[in-house]
Amino acid sequence: MKLDIKSRIAKRMQSVRGEAAFEMLGRATELERQGRSIIHLEIGEPDFDTPQPVVEAGVEYLRKGATHYSPTPGIWELRASIARYLNSRHAANINPKNVLVTPGAKMMIFSIIQAVVDPGDEVIYPDPGYPAYEAAIRMAGATPVAVKLEESKEFRFDLDELARRITPRTKMIAINSPQNPTGGVLTLPDLHKIAELARRHDLLILSDEIYSDIYYAERPASILDVPDVLDRVCVVNGFSKIYAMTGWRLGYGIVPEDTRPAIELFINNTVSSTATFTQRAAIKAFTPESQRTAANMVQEFHRRRDVFVDGLNNIPGIHCLKPLGAFYLFPNVTGTGLRSGQFADRLLTEAGVATLAGTAFGKYGEGYIRLSFANSLPNLESALERIRTFVTHL
Ligand code: PLP
Repeated sequence: MKLDIKSRIAKRMQSVRGEAAFEMLGRATELERQGRSIIHLEIGEPDFDTPQPVVEAGVEYLRKGATHYSPTPGIWELRASIARYLNSRHAANINPKNVLVTPGAKMMIFSIIQAVVDPGDEVIYPDPGYPAYEAAIRMAGATPVAVKLEESKEFRFDLDELARRITPRTKMIAINSPQNPTGGVLTLPDLHKIAELARRHDLLILSDEIYSDIYYAERPASILDVPDVLDRVCVVNGFSKIYAMTGWRLGYGIVPEDTRPAIELFINNTVSSTATFTQRAAIKAFTPESQRTAANMVQEFHRRRDVFVDGLNNIPGIHCLKPLGAFYLFPNVTGTGLRSGQFADRLLTEAGVATLAGTAFGKYGEGYIRLSFANSLPNLESALERIRTFVTHL
């Protein structure tokens, strides 16, 4: 979505782009309305139900009247459950008071950036990457500094390049692992190096770990596994992906003590607080039954990943790395002779498969498309057939 720059729109909004997934969903749905068969691989949400204990608690708390404002930072019991969960998985000592809850992880990203970044500051972020970082940086009047993620480096940062992009104006480095859109994962040595750079240059790190529990090899390292970083790291996470709760709108951040009041003030002045029954229900995500449901979902994603990657790699002109986490593939389509935008556009209109151009995730996404494998195995198999036929007839 691009705004009409001749209108009354504020200048800082004129350079902001929206998430292309919602735009593509609109186009694909319109084609379906006209009677076309479309396979949806564009949107980033699990095709699974929220775990039952969470749903039941949500209904129960609605009935009990948990329908009023909550304190701005979130209800204490949820913040304490989140801290307990993370402390059990990492050698960190997170205090529940540093856990802040927002309606969705995106709101947490936005709140952190608005609270700590000034006009004129620079923020480093991955390209291709989740578009909300660049948008939030621009909306704060700051300068986004894209660092390219290379397929040849399995879509991890080139740390020398990252170091070269740091200037006296750099305020923050945004990282995301496992990553949207590439499925790339930063290693523990990568995270140590990034933390060291942040210490040396007195920078903050925004570490978006929303896919931390969706992985297909060993558990991805977290910035929380690096010792003594809690004073300069804002961790973003949430319930949307791993508990299939995108529509509940529930995210959280772990923030340093000295930034907490400003971030809380931003949340106070924008959304006030997050829905109370949603927060009460989310506590049940940490029960063994919900954890089992989540683990089963990841197992199913694993199966689909393998089928889909192998299928794509058998199509001439396409090659695709096996993502280590999240539920996206980011195949290279340069061998087809089409540019990303053309490929995604024509694949939708000519073959009925909705995907996103790699450029929806930044200019370095050229040459790639993003497909979500949060769709059933039969649908993924049909999509493979349609993509094969489309590419063969180019
Ligand atoms: N961070 C990343 C990397 C994402 O891919 C997404 C959603 O696609 C979000 C954050 C936003 O999550 P939420 O729906 O909780 O706002």
